[in-house]
Amino acid sequence: MLTTHPFDDDKLKEECGVFGVWGAEQASSLVALGLHALQHRGQEAAGVVSFDGTNYHQYRAMGHVGGTFDKPKVIRKLAGPAGIGHVRYSTTGETALRNVQPLYADLAMGGFALAHNGNLSNAMTLRSELNRRGSIFQSTSDTEVIIHLVATSQKEKPVDRLTDALRHVEGAYSLVCLMPEGLVACRDPLGIRPLVMGKLGEATIFASESVAFDVIGATFIREVDPGEMIVVNDEGLRSFRPFEPARPRPCIFEHVYFSRPDSIIEGTSVYETRKAIGAELAREAPCNADFVVPIPDSGVPAAIGFSQAAHIPFELGIIRSHYVGRTFIQPTQDVRHLGVKLKHNANSALIAGKSVVLVDDSVVRGTTSLRLVQMMRDAGAREVHMRIASPPTRHSCFYGVDTPKRSKLIAAQMGIEGMRDYIKADSLAFITLDGLYRALGDERDSQAPQRCDACFSGDYPTHLTDFENEPPEQLSLVSNT
Ligand code: AMP
Repeated sequence: MLTTHPFDDDKLKEECGVFGVWGAEQASSLVALGLHALQHRGQEAAGVVSFDGTNYHQYRAMGHVGGTFDKPKVIRKLAGPAGIGHVRYSTTGETALRNVQPLYADLAMGGFALAHNGNLSNAMTLRSELNRRGSIFQSTSDTEVIIHLVATSQKEKPVDRLTDALRHVEGAYSLVCLMPEGLVACRDPLGIRPLVMGKLGEATIFASESVAFDVIGATFIREVDPGEMIVVNDEGLRSFRPFEPARPRPCIFEHVYFSRPDSIIEGTSVYETRKAIGAELAREAPCNADFVVPIPDSGVPAAIGFSQAAHIPFELGIIRSHYVGRTFIQPTQDVRHLGVKLKHNANSALIAGKSVVLVDDSVVRGTTSLRLVQMMRDAGAREVHMRIASPPTRHSCFYGVDTPKRSKLIAAQMGIEGMRDYIKADSLAFITLDGLYRALGDERDSQAPQRCDACFSGDYPTHLTDFENEPPEQLSLVSNT
């Protein structure tokens, strides 16, 4: 029988991925492949806008990239040497097609298409103000605010209008845009969300993660710097920094969970970083067990690192079916419960009579840990220990990594012993925040942290204007990325 419990009645969500190409023969086919490699960043909907030098062409659909952009007739319609694309998972629960990006508008300056990864923390405030001044919104997306700010900017040149618009927004944004001056890529001054640049022949490419370059055989050039705007057109490439310089605060959770392990972020392999986190966790919270068992797939690299550092054999005690989506994104509570069972099964022949240490990347509501500890016991495990390769998630993210309200975060509600008791593990430990930074090669500067680690520390690097008058846990965000 399915049971309910207090931490899983909220719709959980995740980020988005963006991809852009300038100067390829049929840009949209590269965009489709790039989006395919970024599918882990959002599975709800995907869209592509292309530009053939005169006209813009657009296609958006709910569902996976594969089911939509594998159709030659869809790609043929998306003509031209330039294109941008987006994979999305909504953070509002609203799944309407009108929110699927890239958003497009015909402005006085010409066509403007925009794909956004991140989340603006003053979108609601700006939207009310723009509404009051007569702007008519077509979607419930925070990203549309940028379009209206560009449309109403008093600056003359399109790129200046975009810069002007972005000076009004606060929060996280990695953008790719198609506009009269060409393909524009931009990262917010703190560089909260990632964005990288590559080359394929003559074509310039931008993507949320380097793995999207591997898929199309493109070469990684460099990251787009925090606060940098890059304009690419047939004249070449122009880079400038239109914002006040700021100390970068890239998201730490990209390393822990979001990015694919075969991506390179900040010059480091995500896979190697996750192994280093697992090794640090083994040093901080050692555990005697017969096997280290990863929670697949999210816990695998950390579990390898843990196993190597602890000299405990790594074994696949939980087998994952690759034919179900992430448990996190099942649409209803009941299906989500079912999803955990559909997705993971105990390797009972291995587990019976053994003590195991389960390793996962993070605990949010505690659903996964609760189910899998029980699954290990049902399979006859003698002891079940749990080790988590990130600190307790105690605060919601307002920058595009979608976490539930604080009241649904198990670590915001109870201490580690309470959580251990709740998930019924023999022991439970999380890596410390300092330990996580160490694994990333830094000493955390508590006065001025080098990364955005707000989900663990509550130290938000920007204003949260939309939430100033109410505690953040009381509100649900309007966002699409
Ligand atoms: P929970 O079951 O709610 O505790 O969620 C923890 C599981 O969800 C872990 O296995 C993580 O790998 C995964 N996870 C953590 N954060 C997110 C997120 N923002 N979106 C999707 N999955 C996540």
